Amino acid sequence: MGGVAIGGNSPVRIQSMTNTDTADIGATVTQVVALAKAGSELVRITVNNEAAAMAVPEIRAGLEAAEFGAVPLIGDFHYNGHLLLRKFPKCAQALDKYRINPGNVGSGELHEKNFAVMIAAAVEYMKPVRIGVNWGSVDQELLTKMMEENGGCDNGITAESGGKIPRGAPKSDAEVLREALVESALTSARRAESLGLPANKIILSVKTSDVQEVIATYEMLASRCDYALHLGLTEAGMGARGLISSAAALAVLLQRGIGDTIRFSLTPAPGATMALEQDTRTQEVEACQLLLQTMGLRQFRPLVTSCPGCGRTSSDRFQHLAKEVNAHLAQRMPEWQTSHPKAVGLKVAVMGCTVNGPGEAQHADIALSLPGKSEEPIATVFVQGKLLKTLRGESLGKEFISLIDDYVATHC
Ligand code: SF4
Repeated sequence: MGGVAIGGNSPVRIQSMTNTDTADIGATVTQVVALAKAGSELVRITVNNEAAAMAVPEIRAGLEAAEFGAVPLIGDFHYNGHLLLRKFPKCAQALDKYRINPGNVGSGELHEKNFAVMIAAAVEYMKPVRIGVNWGSVDQELLTKMMEENGGCDNGITAESGGKIPRGAPKSDAEVLREALVESALTSARRAESLGLPANKIILSVKTSDVQEVIATYEMLASRCDYALHLGLTEAGMGARGLISSAAALAVLLQRGIGDTIRFSLTPAPGATMALEQDTRTQEVEACQLLLQTMGLRQFRPLVTSCPGCGRTSSDRFQHLAKEVNAHLAQRMPEWQTSHPKAVGLKVAVMGCTVNGPGEAQHADIALSLPGKSEEPIATVFVQGKLLKTLRGESLGKEFISLIDDYVATHC
Protein backbone atom coordinates (compact mmCIF):
# COMPACT_ATOMS: atom_id res chain seq x y z
CA MET A 1 0.00 0.00 0.00
CA GLY A 2 1.90 3.05 -1.22
CA GLY A 3 5.41 2.04 -0.18
CA VAL A 4 4.26 0.02 2.84
CA ALA A 5 4.07 -3.77 2.61
CA ILE A 6 1.18 -5.37 4.50
CA GLY A 7 0.67 -9.04 5.27
CA GLY A 8 2.91 -12.06 4.85
CA ASN A 9 6.05 -11.62 6.91
CA SER A 10 5.75 -7.83 7.08
CA PRO A 11 5.57 -6.25 10.53
CA VAL A 12 2.08 -5.58 11.91
CA ARG A 13 1.34 -2.05 10.69
CA ILE A 14 -0.23 0.79 12.63
CA GLN A 15 -3.17 2.65 11.19
CA SER A 16 -5.16 5.68 12.33
CA MET A 17 -7.93 7.86 10.99
CA THR A 18 -8.41 11.62 10.86
CA ASN A 19 -11.53 13.28 12.27
CA THR A 20 -11.18 16.54 10.35
CA ASP A 21 -13.55 17.57 7.59
CA THR A 22 -11.60 16.16 4.63
CA ALA A 23 -12.68 19.15 2.54
CA ASP A 24 -10.68 21.31 4.99
CA ILE A 25 -7.37 20.64 3.29
CA GLY A 26 -5.17 22.53 5.78
CA ALA A 27 -6.67 20.88 8.87
CA THR A 28 -6.53 17.42 7.30
CA VAL A 29 -2.90 17.80 6.18
CA THR A 30 -1.99 19.02 9.69
CA GLN A 31 -3.67 16.04 11.31
CA VAL A 32 -2.23 13.48 8.90
CA VAL A 33 1.24 14.91 9.54
CA ALA A 34 0.69 14.76 13.33
CA LEU A 35 -0.47 11.14 13.08
CA ALA A 36 2.44 10.19 10.83
CA LYS A 37 4.90 11.90 13.17
CA ALA A 38 3.40 9.95 16.06
CA GLY A 39 4.10 6.74 14.14
CA SER A 40 0.97 6.01 12.14
CA GLU A 41 2.15 4.09 9.08
CA LEU A 42 -1.20 4.34 7.27
CA VAL A 43 -3.76 7.11 7.65
CA ARG A 44 -7.43 6.84 6.70
CA ILE A 45 -9.48 9.86 5.72
CA THR A 46 -13.20 9.93 5.09
CA VAL A 47 -14.22 10.66 1.50
CA ASN A 48 -17.88 11.32 2.07
CA ASN A 49 -18.86 13.90 -0.55
CA GLU A 50 -17.69 15.71 -3.68
CA ALA A 51 -15.86 18.42 -1.72
CA ALA A 52 -13.89 15.75 0.12
CA ALA A 53 -13.11 13.88 -3.11
CA MET A 54 -11.89 17.11 -4.74
CA ALA A 55 -9.72 17.83 -1.68
CA VAL A 56 -7.88 14.49 -1.76
CA PRO A 57 -5.32 15.39 -4.49
CA GLU A 58 -4.72 18.71 -2.70
CA ILE A 59 -4.16 16.87 0.57
CA ARG A 60 -1.66 14.62 -1.18
CA ALA A 61 0.12 17.73 -2.53
CA GLY A 62 0.05 19.34 0.93
CA LEU A 63 1.65 16.24 2.43
CA GLU A 64 4.34 16.27 -0.21
CA ALA A 65 5.04 19.95 0.51
CA ALA A 66 5.34 19.09 4.21
CA GLU A 67 7.74 16.26 3.29
CA PHE A 68 5.21 13.64 4.38
CA GLY A 69 4.26 12.64 0.84
CA ALA A 70 5.13 9.00 1.54
CA VAL A 71 2.33 8.55 4.08
CA PRO A 72 -0.16 6.13 2.51
CA LEU A 73 -3.69 7.55 2.49
CA ILE A 74 -6.76 5.36 2.68
CA GLY A 75 -10.07 6.70 1.41
CA ASP A 76 -13.04 5.64 3.52
CA PHE A 77 -16.14 5.26 1.32
CA HIS A 78 -19.76 4.68 2.31
CA TYR A 79 -22.95 4.90 0.18
CA ASN A 80 -21.51 7.02 -2.67
CA GLY A 81 -17.99 5.66 -3.24
CA HIS A 82 -18.96 4.33 -6.67
CA LEU A 83 -20.04 7.84 -7.73
CA LEU A 84 -17.05 9.64 -6.23
CA LEU A 85 -14.38 7.28 -7.54
CA ARG A 86 -15.84 7.48 -11.05
CA LYS A 87 -16.41 11.23 -11.08
CA PHE A 88 -13.08 12.19 -9.47
CA PRO A 89 -10.28 10.14 -11.07
CA LYS A 90 -7.63 12.35 -9.47
CA CYS A 91 -9.01 11.35 -6.08
CA ALA A 92 -8.98 7.69 -7.08
CA GLN A 93 -5.38 8.07 -8.20
CA ALA A 94 -4.16 10.09 -5.18
CA LEU A 95 -5.41 7.57 -2.63
CA ASP A 96 -3.28 4.52 -1.81
CA LYS A 97 -6.15 2.26 -0.78
CA TYR A 98 -9.93 2.28 -0.79
CA ARG A 99 -11.97 1.10 2.16
CA ILE A 100 -15.28 -0.34 1.05
CA ASN A 101 -18.02 -1.32 3.48
CA PRO A 102 -20.14 -3.96 1.72
CA GLY A 103 -23.06 -3.07 4.00
CA ASN A 104 -23.10 0.47 2.58
CA VAL A 105 -22.90 0.07 -1.19
CA GLY A 106 -26.60 -0.15 -1.98
CA SER A 107 -29.00 -3.08 -2.01
CA GLY A 108 -30.18 -5.65 -4.53
CA GLU A 109 -28.84 -5.22 -8.05
CA LEU A 110 -27.38 -1.85 -7.12
CA HIS A 111 -25.21 -3.52 -4.49
CA GLU A 112 -23.52 -5.66 -7.15
CA LYS A 113 -23.27 -2.80 -9.62
CA ASN A 114 -21.89 -0.22 -7.20
CA PHE A 115 -19.40 -2.67 -5.72
CA ALA A 116 -18.19 -3.54 -9.23
CA VAL A 117 -17.65 0.14 -10.07
CA MET A 118 -15.44 0.60 -7.01
CA ILE A 119 -13.43 -2.54 -7.70
CA ALA A 120 -13.02 -1.43 -11.33
CA ALA A 121 -11.42 1.79 -10.06
CA ALA A 122 -9.10 -0.22 -7.79
CA VAL A 123 -8.08 -2.43 -10.73
CA GLU A 124 -7.61 0.53 -13.06
CA TYR A 125 -5.44 2.48 -10.61
CA MET A 126 -3.82 -0.65 -9.12
CA LYS A 127 -4.93 0.17 -5.57
CA PRO A 128 -5.52 -2.28 -2.75
CA VAL A 129 -8.95 -2.43 -1.16
CA ARG A 130 -9.99 -3.08 2.40
CA ILE A 131 -13.34 -4.77 2.56
CA GLY A 132 -14.33 -3.53 5.98
CA VAL A 133 -17.41 -5.16 7.48
CA ASN A 134 -18.80 -3.68 10.67
CA TRP A 135 -21.55 -5.13 12.82
CA GLY A 136 -23.21 -1.71 12.98
CA SER A 137 -23.66 -1.69 9.21
CA VAL A 138 -23.65 -5.35 8.23
CA ASP A 139 -25.35 -6.18 4.90
CA GLN A 140 -28.98 -6.40 6.06
CA GLU A 141 -30.15 -8.51 3.11
CA LEU A 142 -27.50 -11.10 3.86
CA LEU A 143 -28.21 -11.04 7.60
CA THR A 144 -31.98 -11.41 7.09
CA LYS A 145 -31.44 -14.30 4.68
CA MET A 146 -29.11 -16.05 7.10
CA MET A 147 -31.50 -15.47 10.02
CA GLU A 148 -34.35 -16.96 8.00
CA GLU A 149 -32.27 -19.94 6.92
CA ASN A 150 -31.36 -20.46 10.56
CA GLY A 151 -35.04 -21.02 11.23
CA GLY A 152 -35.66 -18.49 13.95
CA CYS A 153 -33.95 -16.41 16.49
CA ASP A 154 -33.71 -18.74 19.49
CA ASN A 155 -31.14 -21.46 19.90
CA GLY A 156 -33.46 -24.32 20.77
CA ILE A 157 -32.94 -24.23 24.52
CA THR A 158 -36.14 -25.45 26.18
CA ALA A 159 -37.21 -27.24 29.34
CA GLU A 160 -37.12 -30.46 27.30
CA SER A 161 -33.54 -29.84 26.19
CA GLY A 162 -32.53 -29.51 29.84
CA GLY A 163 -31.14 -26.02 29.32
CA LYS A 164 -28.64 -27.30 26.74
CA ILE A 165 -28.44 -26.41 23.07
CA PRO A 166 -29.90 -29.44 21.25
CA ARG A 167 -27.92 -31.09 18.47
CA GLY A 168 -28.82 -29.56 15.11
CA ALA A 169 -30.59 -26.68 16.84
CA PRO A 170 -30.72 -23.25 15.30
CA LYS A 171 -27.75 -21.09 16.03
CA SER A 172 -28.01 -18.14 18.40
CA ASP A 173 -28.48 -14.66 16.98
CA ALA A 174 -24.89 -13.84 17.95
CA GLU A 175 -23.58 -16.84 16.01
CA VAL A 176 -25.62 -15.96 12.93
CA LEU A 177 -24.41 -12.36 13.09
CA ARG A 178 -20.82 -13.59 13.36
CA GLU A 179 -21.35 -15.86 10.34
CA ALA A 180 -22.93 -12.96 8.44
CA LEU A 181 -19.96 -10.69 9.10
CA VAL A 182 -17.50 -13.31 7.90
CA GLU A 183 -19.66 -14.33 4.95
CA SER A 184 -20.10 -10.71 3.88
CA ALA A 185 -16.34 -10.14 3.93
CA LEU A 186 -15.48 -13.37 2.11
CA THR A 187 -18.23 -13.11 -0.51
CA SER A 188 -17.15 -9.55 -1.30
CA ALA A 189 -13.48 -10.55 -1.46
CA ARG A 190 -14.20 -13.42 -3.85
CA ARG A 191 -16.32 -11.14 -5.99
CA ALA A 192 -13.53 -8.55 -6.05
CA GLU A 193 -11.13 -11.27 -7.21
CA SER A 194 -13.58 -12.35 -9.91
CA LEU A 195 -13.65 -8.71 -11.07
CA GLY A 196 -9.87 -8.70 -11.51
CA LEU A 197 -8.50 -7.49 -8.17
CA PRO A 198 -5.58 -9.72 -7.17
CA ALA A 199 -5.89 -11.50 -3.79
CA ASN A 200 -2.78 -9.74 -2.52
CA LYS A 201 -4.53 -6.39 -2.96
CA ILE A 202 -7.36 -7.35 -0.65
CA ILE A 203 -7.46 -6.72 3.10
CA LEU A 204 -10.41 -7.76 5.24
CA SER A 205 -11.80 -6.57 8.55
CA VAL A 206 -14.83 -7.69 10.58
CA LYS A 207 -15.17 -5.23 13.45
CA THR A 208 -17.54 -5.33 16.39
CA SER A 209 -17.49 -3.34 19.61
CA ASP A 210 -17.59 -6.42 21.87
CA VAL A 211 -14.26 -7.92 22.88
CA GLN A 212 -15.26 -11.60 22.87
CA GLU A 213 -17.26 -11.21 19.67
CA VAL A 214 -14.45 -9.50 17.81
CA ILE A 215 -12.05 -12.27 18.84
CA ALA A 216 -14.45 -15.03 17.80
CA THR A 217 -15.32 -13.33 14.50
CA TYR A 218 -11.72 -12.73 13.45
CA GLU A 219 -10.78 -16.28 14.44
CA MET A 220 -13.55 -17.60 12.20
CA LEU A 221 -12.46 -15.34 9.35
CA ALA A 222 -8.77 -16.25 9.70
CA SER A 223 -9.61 -19.95 9.65
CA ARG A 224 -11.41 -19.55 6.32
CA CYS A 225 -9.01 -17.42 4.27
CA ASP A 226 -5.49 -16.15 3.95
CA TYR A 227 -6.20 -12.56 2.97
CA ALA A 228 -4.36 -9.90 4.96
CA LEU A 229 -6.46 -8.77 7.94
CA HIS A 230 -6.90 -5.35 9.54
CA LEU A 231 -7.81 -5.59 13.23
CA GLY A 232 -9.80 -3.21 15.34
CA LEU A 233 -12.41 -3.07 18.04
CA THR A 234 -14.85 -0.58 16.58
CA GLU A 235 -16.38 2.16 18.72
CA ALA A 236 -14.14 1.10 21.59
CA GLY A 237 -15.11 4.07 23.74
CA MET A 238 -13.29 6.73 25.70
CA GLY A 239 -10.11 6.79 27.75
CA ALA A 240 -9.16 3.72 29.77
CA ARG A 241 -12.21 1.76 28.60
CA GLY A 242 -11.28 2.19 24.95
CA LEU A 243 -7.60 1.50 25.53
CA ILE A 244 -8.10 -1.60 27.64
CA SER A 245 -10.86 -3.20 25.59
CA SER A 246 -8.93 -2.63 22.34
CA ALA A 247 -5.71 -3.98 23.84
CA ALA A 248 -7.51 -7.02 25.26
CA ALA A 249 -9.12 -7.94 21.94
CA LEU A 250 -6.13 -7.22 19.72
CA ALA A 251 -3.59 -8.88 22.03
CA VAL A 252 -5.47 -12.19 21.96
CA LEU A 253 -5.68 -12.14 18.17
CA LEU A 254 -2.09 -11.02 17.61
CA GLN A 255 -0.87 -13.71 20.00
CA ARG A 256 -2.64 -16.26 17.80
CA GLY A 257 -0.86 -14.89 14.73
CA ILE A 258 -3.96 -13.10 13.42
CA GLY A 259 -3.69 -9.54 12.12
CA ASP A 260 -1.56 -7.54 9.70
CA THR A 261 -2.59 -3.98 10.53
CA ILE A 262 -4.20 -2.59 13.70
CA ARG A 263 -6.09 0.45 14.87
CA PHE A 264 -7.32 1.63 18.27
CA SER A 265 -10.56 3.63 17.87
CA LEU A 266 -10.81 6.01 20.82
CA THR A 267 -13.55 8.59 21.35
CA PRO A 268 -12.16 12.10 21.96
CA ALA A 269 -13.38 13.85 25.11
CA PRO A 270 -16.46 16.03 24.46
CA GLY A 271 -15.75 19.70 24.15
CA ALA A 272 -12.06 19.01 23.68
CA THR A 273 -10.06 21.69 22.01
CA MET A 274 -8.51 20.81 18.68
CA ALA A 275 -5.18 20.30 20.44
CA LEU A 276 -6.73 17.86 22.89
CA GLU A 277 -8.50 15.99 20.12
CA GLN A 278 -5.16 15.75 18.39
CA ASP A 279 -3.77 14.22 21.56
CA THR A 280 -6.48 11.56 21.53
CA ARG A 281 -5.76 10.83 17.90
CA THR A 282 -2.02 10.49 18.42
CA GLN A 283 -2.72 8.56 21.65
CA GLU A 284 -4.36 5.89 19.45
CA VAL A 285 -1.09 5.55 17.59
CA GLU A 286 1.00 5.44 20.76
CA ALA A 287 -1.32 2.77 22.17
CA CYS A 288 -0.82 0.63 19.05
CA GLN A 289 2.95 1.02 19.35
CA LEU A 290 2.95 0.10 23.02
CA LEU A 291 0.76 -2.92 22.40
CA LEU A 292 3.04 -4.23 19.66
CA GLN A 293 6.21 -3.49 21.61
CA THR A 294 5.11 -4.89 24.95
CA MET A 295 4.04 -8.07 23.12
CA GLY A 296 7.51 -8.31 21.60
CA LEU A 297 6.22 -7.92 18.04
CA ARG A 298 7.90 -4.62 17.15
CA GLN A 299 10.21 -2.03 18.68
CA PHE A 300 9.51 1.70 18.61
CA ARG A 301 11.03 3.26 21.71
CA PRO A 302 12.99 2.43 24.85
CA LEU A 303 10.76 0.87 27.49
CA VAL A 304 10.93 1.88 31.14
CA THR A 305 9.99 -0.72 33.74
CA SER A 306 8.99 0.89 37.01
CA CYS A 307 7.36 -0.55 40.08
CA PRO A 308 4.05 0.74 41.44
CA GLY A 309 5.55 1.63 44.83
CA CYS A 310 4.19 0.50 48.17
CA GLY A 311 4.59 1.01 51.89
CA ARG A 312 8.29 0.20 51.62
CA THR A 313 8.98 3.57 50.02
CA SER A 314 9.04 6.67 52.19
CA SER A 315 8.81 9.26 49.40
CA ASP A 316 7.65 9.69 45.83
CA ARG A 317 11.26 10.06 44.67
CA PHE A 318 11.19 7.01 42.40
CA GLN A 319 7.94 8.17 40.81
CA HIS A 320 9.59 11.45 39.85
CA LEU A 321 12.62 9.53 38.62
CA ALA A 322 10.49 7.25 36.46
CA LYS A 323 8.70 10.27 34.98
CA GLU A 324 11.95 12.12 34.26
CA VAL A 325 13.52 9.07 32.64
CA ASN A 326 10.46 8.49 30.44
CA ALA A 327 10.45 12.15 29.38
CA HIS A 328 14.17 12.11 28.64
CA LEU A 329 13.96 8.98 26.50
CA ALA A 330 11.01 10.37 24.55
CA GLN A 331 12.90 13.59 23.93
CA ARG A 332 16.15 11.92 22.81
CA MET A 333 14.62 9.13 20.72
CA PRO A 334 14.04 11.11 17.48
CA GLU A 335 17.77 11.90 17.37
CA TRP A 336 18.82 8.40 18.45
CA GLN A 337 16.69 6.91 15.69
CA THR A 338 19.43 7.88 13.22
CA SER A 339 22.51 8.17 15.45
CA HIS A 340 21.89 5.11 17.68
CA PRO A 341 19.12 3.04 16.09
CA LYS A 342 19.44 0.16 18.56
CA ALA A 343 18.17 2.50 21.29
CA VAL A 344 14.60 1.52 20.30
CA GLY A 345 15.18 -1.77 22.10
CA LEU A 346 16.68 -0.22 25.25
CA LYS A 347 15.24 -1.50 28.52
CA VAL A 348 15.48 0.76 31.55
CA ALA A 349 14.22 -0.04 35.06
CA VAL A 350 13.44 2.40 37.87
CA MET A 351 12.61 0.58 41.09
CA GLY A 352 11.49 1.80 44.50
CA CYS A 353 13.36 -0.60 46.78
CA THR A 354 15.71 -3.56 47.07
CA VAL A 355 12.93 -6.17 47.22
CA ASN A 356 12.62 -6.30 43.42
CA GLY A 357 15.16 -3.67 42.33
CA PRO A 358 18.28 -5.83 41.85
CA GLY A 359 16.19 -8.70 40.42
CA GLU A 360 14.48 -6.45 37.87
CA ALA A 361 17.90 -5.03 37.00
CA GLN A 362 18.83 -8.48 35.65
CA HIS A 363 16.25 -7.99 32.88
CA ALA A 364 17.16 -4.39 32.02
CA ASP A 365 20.06 -2.85 30.14
CA ILE A 366 20.40 -0.16 32.75
CA ALA A 367 18.53 0.02 36.03
CA LEU A 368 18.30 2.11 39.15
CA SER A 369 17.03 0.92 42.51
CA LEU A 370 16.30 3.05 45.52
CA PRO A 371 16.75 1.41 48.91
CA GLY A 372 13.14 1.83 50.06
CA LYS A 373 12.55 3.75 53.31
CA SER A 374 15.42 6.17 53.48
CA GLU A 375 15.55 9.87 54.11
CA GLU A 376 18.85 10.10 52.29
CA PRO A 377 18.74 10.23 48.46
CA ILE A 378 20.67 7.12 47.54
CA ALA A 379 20.33 4.65 44.66
CA THR A 380 22.28 1.77 43.17
CA VAL A 381 22.76 1.59 39.40
CA PHE A 382 23.09 -1.67 37.49
CA VAL A 383 24.27 -2.11 33.91
CA GLN A 384 23.37 -5.39 32.25
CA GLY A 385 22.59 -6.83 35.65
CA LYS A 386 25.90 -5.89 37.30
CA LEU A 387 26.28 -3.25 39.98
CA LEU A 388 27.90 -0.20 38.39
CA LYS A 389 27.86 2.37 41.17
CA THR A 390 25.90 3.98 43.96
CA LEU A 391 24.53 7.48 43.41
CA ARG A 392 23.93 9.83 46.33
CA GLY A 393 22.44 13.27 46.76
CA GLU A 394 19.69 15.32 45.18
CA SER A 395 21.30 15.17 41.72
CA LEU A 396 21.10 11.38 41.45
CA GLY A 397 18.28 11.59 38.87
CA LYS A 398 20.37 13.77 36.56
CA GLU A 399 23.36 11.47 37.03
CA PHE A 400 21.29 8.40 36.18
CA ILE A 401 20.01 10.08 33.03
CA SER A 402 23.56 10.91 32.05
CA LEU A 403 24.50 7.23 32.59
CA ILE A 404 21.65 6.25 30.26
CA ASP A 405 23.04 8.61 27.61
CA ASP A 406 26.50 7.05 28.06
CA TYR A 407 25.01 3.59 27.71
CA VAL A 408 23.24 4.52 24.48
CA ALA A 409 26.40 6.15 23.09
CA THR A 410 28.48 3.04 23.77
CA HIS A 411 26.03 0.16 23.27
CA CYS A 412 23.41 1.30 20.73
S1 SF4 B 1 10.07 -2.81 44.29
FE1 SF4 B 1 9.89 -2.33 46.46
S2 SF4 B 1 8.86 -0.34 46.51
FE2 SF4 B 1 8.52 -1.17 44.49
S3 SF4 B 1 6.56 -2.19 44.71
FE3 SF4 B 1 8.15 -3.74 45.01
S4 SF4 B 1 8.41 -3.84 47.22
FE4 SF4 B 1 7.31 -1.93 46.80
